Amino acid sequence: MNQIVKTEEEWQKELTSEQYKVLRGCATERPFTGMYWDAKAQGMYRCAGCGSELFASDAKFDAGCGWPSFDDALPSAIKRLPDADGARVEIVCARCGGHLGHAFEGEKMTPKDTRYCVNSAALKFMPRL
Ligand SMILES: [Zn+2]
Repeated sequence: MNQIVKTEEEWQKELTSEQYKVLRGCATERPFTGMYWDAKAQGMYRCAGCGSELFASDAKFDAGCGWPSFDDALPSAIKRLPDADGARVEIVCARCGGHLGHAFEGEKMTPKDTRYCVNSAALKFMPRL
């Protein structure tokens, strides 16, 4: 997969300020405020930074946390990193390195026992036609 590398200046120009704060600044949007936390349409969630396909709507589930939650990602679409807080696991887009959210395991919310908790601002939804 081709990596996408841009300067902070380029990102700032291309992204909305909200997308920039989340994807490049690792900000977390407030729960129940994002565009997709309650979305149920069928389609594909892409990275708002580079357009890479990340999560299928089939993997989306209602975790009640106020952020879009998925129990699976597309193969090699995301990378897991130790979060700067030393406790959580950060997830980033494998292609552009944009911050998406965090991965949680052991909650037993779905059979896959994984919850990717993602900021809406990091996603761009493409409905299935
Ligand atoms: Zn990306």
